[in-house]
Amino acid sequence: MDRVSTPTTLLEAVTAFSDKQVAHDYFVSLRWPNGIACPRQGCGSANVAAIKGRNAWRCRECDRQFTAKVCTIFEDSPIGFDKWLPAMWMLTADRNGVSSYEVARGIGVTQKTAWFMLHRLRLAMRTNDFDRLSGEVEADETYIGGKTRRGVPKAVRIGKAGKQAKQDAKAVVMGMRERGGRVRAKVVADNRKTTLLPMLFQHVERGSVLYTDALKSYADARDAFVHEVIDHSVSYVSGRVHTNNIENARSAGRTSRRVTSTSTPTWTSKCFASTSAPRRTGRASRRRSRVRTANV
Ligand SMILES: [Zn+2]
Repeated sequence: MDRVSTPTTLLEAVTAFSDKQVAHDYFVSLRWPNGIACPRQGCGSANVAAIKGRNAWRCRECDRQFTAKVCTIFEDSPIGFDKWLPAMWMLTADRNGVSSYEVARGIGVTQKTAWFMLHRLRLAMRTNDFDRLSGEVEADETYIGGKTRRGVPKAVRIGKAGKQAKQDAKAVVMGMRERGGRVRAKVVADNRKTTLLPMLFQHVERGSVLYTDALKSYADARDAFVHEVIDHSVSYVSGRVHTNNIENARSAGRTSRRVTSTSTPTWTSKCFASTSAPRRTGRASRRRSRVRTANV
C-alpha cells in the first residue's frame, strides 16, 4: 500500500483522495498504523486475511469479516472515504470553522449530506475518538441547571423529568462510560426512549454489556446490548452492576461549576475529557491556552 502524504491544500486533498482506493488506503493507514487488526469487540487479533477484490478482511481468530468502516463513526454511512477525507481536511484545516455549504461545494455533495458529515466529524473530534465505546459501558442521564432540588430522591426527579424538567429549564445530559476507559457526554432533548436509544446506538458498540438505572427508556436496549439494570431505590451496588462511575464523574463536574442550559455542551466535553485524560492545569498551560485564544 502506497502511503499518501498528507495534503496541504484543499485542491491537493480533493485530488489525492478523488481516487477511492487511495482514500481508502490512506484511512486504513491512519486507523491501523501498526498493521490491520480485527476491530470486533473482544478480538483485536492481527491474524487477518484480505478478501480478494473487496476492501474487506476476514479475521482468522473469530472468523468474522470487517471493513475499514466497521466500529467507526463511518460504519452506517454509504459515503466513501473519497468524500470523508476531504471533508475532514476542510474541517480541521480552517481554524474559523467551515460551513456545510462550503463543504458541499468543495467535495461535490448536497448541503444536506455535508451537514450530516460535519455533524459526525465534529462529534468525533470533540470526543477525540472515532470508535464506539465497548466492553462494559455504563449509561445514565442527569438533569442540570434550573431549580435546585437538593434532598429530592432521584426516583421522584426521574418521575417528573418529562414536562416538569422542561418547565424548570433543566438540561438533560446523557453520559456513557466505558469501565476503566473512555467517557462520552451529550446534552439531549429529553429522557425519552426515542432520544436515549439512538444515542446508545451511536456511541456504544452493539453486543457490549450495558449498565443503566431502571429508567423505562432503556428497556428496549436489551435487543442490542447485554442489558443489566440497577434499581437505585433498592440498592446502589450489586456485584458488577452499578452506574457509580458515571455518576461520580458527573457530580465532580456539577459541584465545581454553575451550569446553565446553554453553557452545558462545552462544559460536558471539557469536564468529561478531563476525567479520562487529566488536563494540564499549570501556569504554562494556562498561558498556552490564552495565546491560543488570542490567535483565533
Ligand atoms: Zn476477530
